[in-house]
Amino acid sequence: MNALPKSLILDACAFSRKGGLVAIPTETVYGLAAPLTNLDQLNRIFELKERPFFDPLIVHVAEISEAKKLVSHWTELAQCLASTFWPGPLTLVLPKNPQAVPDIVTSGLTTVGVRVPNHPVALEFIRKLGTPVAAPSANKFTKTSPTKASHVSEIFSSEDVFVLDGGDCEVGIESTIVAVAEHELTILRLGMITKSALEESLHRHGLKVSVQEGRTALDQMQGMSPGNFSIHYRPTWPVAVCVSEPSPKQLVQIATCFKLDNSNALRLRTLDDRPAVAARELYSFLRAPLGEQACALVLTIPKLTELSPDDQEAWQALRDRLKKAASLWIDGEL
Ligand code: AMP
Ligand code: MG
Repeated sequence: MNALPKSLILDACAFSRKGGLVAIPTETVYGLAAPLTNLDQLNRIFELKERPFFDPLIVHVAEISEAKKLVSHWTELAQCLASTFWPGPLTLVLPKNPQAVPDIVTSGLTTVGVRVPNHPVALEFIRKLGTPVAAPSANKFTKTSPTKASHVSEIFSSEDVFVLDGGDCEVGIESTIVAVAEHELTILRLGMITKSALEESLHRHGLKVSVQEGRTALDQMQGMSPGNFSIHYRPTWPVAVCVSEPSPKQLVQIATCFKLDNSNALRLRTLDDRPAVAARELYSFLRAPLGEQACALVLTIPKLTELSPDDQEAWQALRDRLKKAASLWIDGEL
């Protein structure tokens, strides 16, 4: 994590106040930030990301007290989760305060997604700017999220974006998103904060709340127009995921599937078995240049049955991203 000179963060704030977009480091991925108060800048986020307006943005704040102002009803459950996991990779979806959150941020929904990121540069930027920011991942829609400042500079090379370099993202994949109701939590997107970790925190606070799995607003749209958005987190080359090391015969078959002459055109990479390490590797591995001869990536991941129950659970979030990034998924014989 890079400690940045305070003057650079102040420069970024000045750039933002003049109407520009600032890429901020967070512990999950880099975000493209605009103040919640400026509709032109919020519009520009959608434009730059080529993101459809029906995909709502997550609002980032520096303190719990700021999150409370964005919602119409702050529950005991929200307080429990915020005090346990913030600053950190957990987004809470709560009924929104329409006076505080413009419709463009929430795609017209009556709820808002909010979190406090765990990165000193992001927190300092938000505090100095003096307003919450909407900050979706700083990538083009459906493409791989950036986990290094250099990724953001590549993605927006022809745009005037101020990139704050806070080093490599320590978590490496997007936040866990939960919809918070009175007595019920619904996990809308898996992340490195697992269902068990949520349940353990609720138990510790003596809250009797059921935790279930659901779908994001984007995934629900997908349900309405099948197949449209199942592609996500995609690099520019085809990716095959192999559950355990592929055999030479399988590599030939993968090359054939990708219409390549031989398996020398495949770049092989293996993710670490430990989910926290694999999460940091994931988007870098998807983005890293393949090398001269290669035109497709083969990523090996561990078999779930060979992992501890905790690691199996954390790997679900990584498999969720990989299922959307991969064109081929090989679990056993081809
Ligand atoms: P990103 O910031 O690019 O990681 O994307 C944010 C994700 O959060 C989107 O896929 C949204 O579907 C989800 N999200 C944000 N706000 C809400 C909300 N109010 N209700 C449900 N999902 C949300
Ligand atoms: Mg995103």
